[in-house]
Amino acid sequence: MISEDRVRALAGHQGSCVVTSCYLDVDGRRHPRHADYETQLEHLVREAREKAAGFGPEAVRSVAADLDRITAWVRGGFDRSHVRGLAFFACSADGWFEVVESPLPTSNEIVVNHTPHVRPLEAILQAYERFAVVLVDRQRARLFRFDLGELTEHTEVFDAVPRGGDQAGHPARGSRGANVARHGEEVAHRHLKHAADVTFSELRERPVDHVILGGPHEVVVEFEGLLHPWVRDRVVDRLVIPATAGPDEVRQAALAVEEAVTRRRGAALVDRLRDAIGAGGAGVAGLEATLAALVERRVDLLLVSDGYATEGWRCRSCRYLGPRGRRCPVCAKSMDLVDDVVEEAVEEALANKCRVQIVRENADLDVLGRIGAMLRF
Ligand SMILES: [Zn+2]
Repeated sequence: MISEDRVRALAGHQGSCVVTSCYLDVDGRRHPRHADYETQLEHLVREAREKAAGFGPEAVRSVAADLDRITAWVRGGFDRSHVRGLAFFACSADGWFEVVESPLPTSNEIVVNHTPHVRPLEAILQAYERFAVVLVDRQRARLFRFDLGELTEHTEVFDAVPRGGDQAGHPARGSRGANVARHGEEVAHRHLKHAADVTFSELRERPVDHVILGGPHEVVVEFEGLLHPWVRDRVVDRLVIPATAGPDEVRQAALAVEEAVTRRRGAALVDRLRDAIGAGGAGVAGLEATLAALVERRVDLLLVSDGYATEGWRCRSCRYLGPRGRRCPVCAKSMDLVDDVVEEAVEEALANKCRVQIVRENADLDVLGRIGAMLRF
């Protein structure tokens, strides 16, 4: 599981020897057979052995043990239904070994260095949104936090509503029944206020991009009115779902909202891209123009139609990406043919700290060539 805390903890690792950082793309859509990514791993292992040699004999021994452990882990099998990328961080000299399973693919890469190489994980975190679901009723509030579509945390607030009598010692006013009802309202209101405060402090501590509310309609309306404006501004939808719903029910409902939000945002960005192209100079579309803008580091936001993949060329020497090969137009070296230059473009964009938006089911972007970019300059 990737989280900001985990990436920070990995980045802060202090060890006595070099660290092996290995990223492996195990995406079932591109590597249907185990042998496909195991072959990729063998290439990475060879590369790492060569890199380790430069760090001296102790590093060579430690890295060799890291590589054995990584290979054994991959061969041992794992559940690919939720995992599309793996990241390993190891330093056998210190007995350190960690595996991060990513629900999003990563590109194959192996690094031997004194510090862990966490940038690809950071790029994944930066590019994909985090959201929270808050379920409320008159005595309960539950906050679920999702990172990259996976439930990562769950906080409960429970404020019991007194039943049947005025045990809190409030003076009796009017008829007893009306008084009890009014008192119940007050207690419920205090509970929602408390829940709103807890929600704000939790989300201020670790912010999310979106908040989804759920519960009985009239309770949700009251709760939303009590939320701090910072939280209220992030509310994207309300679900009619019991406050006692199980984590899986919450996750399914939340992912449906998240998908709709992503689709709406994608459509809005494609509209902006079309305007930018119309205005001239602020946007590009189509594979050739977009790759050229990426290579020139002019891209601010990369937009890609979901599922778009096409062959292209990559220069390993200067990182040039283009639709035609084989000679690199920048450094004149011979380039590699890659089966999916769009994937390379996404990775390049993430590595350059550009924003990336995968756009689903948007005919306008398809007409523009299935890829485009808003430019910085
Ligand atoms: Zn080149």
